[in-house]
Amino acid sequence: MRRLPPRPDLSADTRQRLRTETETIKSSADSKQTAETLYTKARKSDWFKDTVVKTLKKMSGPGERCMYCSGSEASQVEHFRPKSIFPELAMDWNNFLWVCGVCNQSKGDRFPPKTEPGASVIDPGSENPWNFFFIDDFGNLNARWDTLLDAPNPRAENTIRLLALDRDPLQQARHRRLEDLKIAIQEPVAKWTDQLVSAVS
Ligand SMILES: [Zn+2]
Repeated sequence: MRRLPPRPDLSADTRQRLRTETETIKSSADSKQTAETLYTKARKSDWFKDTVVKTLKKMSGPGERCMYCSGSEASQVEHFRPKSIFPELAMDWNNFLWVCGVCNQSKGDRFPPKTEPGASVIDPGSENPWNFFFIDDFGNLNARWDTLLDAPNPRAENTIRLLALDRDPLQQARHRRLEDLKIAIQEPVAKWTDQLVSAVS
């Protein structure tokens, strides 16, 4: 997970389209089924691909990495709040993320504490993950310590568990990136130290 740029606004036309579909879902007798039908139809249509998907891809940055794990290329629209539980949010722009298949399957329709006991998942679309996580010297993603609870942050721990953010390929990729970074900064740091030494001597 990483910090994302603020969610950009969609065009007025797209906002109106999403709003109309949301109203249809809300007024339906079977909102869950209507949400499923409307979303499935939208997902295949050009207007959705050219607006929602395109903007999510842009938001995810270089390489269009998964908004949950940052480790894999994303390929799927994810409903942060599952549409099976929150059908009224099936066509809500603020509920869409761009994620990889592994994270999407890992999370599934789970949304604690609504669907199971436990702390709520961190939303990379609206929260700064670095308030909840840190990467240690080995490249492992860890929950920050919550001083009030005197325990690791429960939301961070549950997010790691639900999305399997500690899976081996991700930990190894983070470790490699960290090592590359250490090598990359060695030369500028040595140069800066030399300059400092010559300035004071
Ligand atoms: Zn992922």
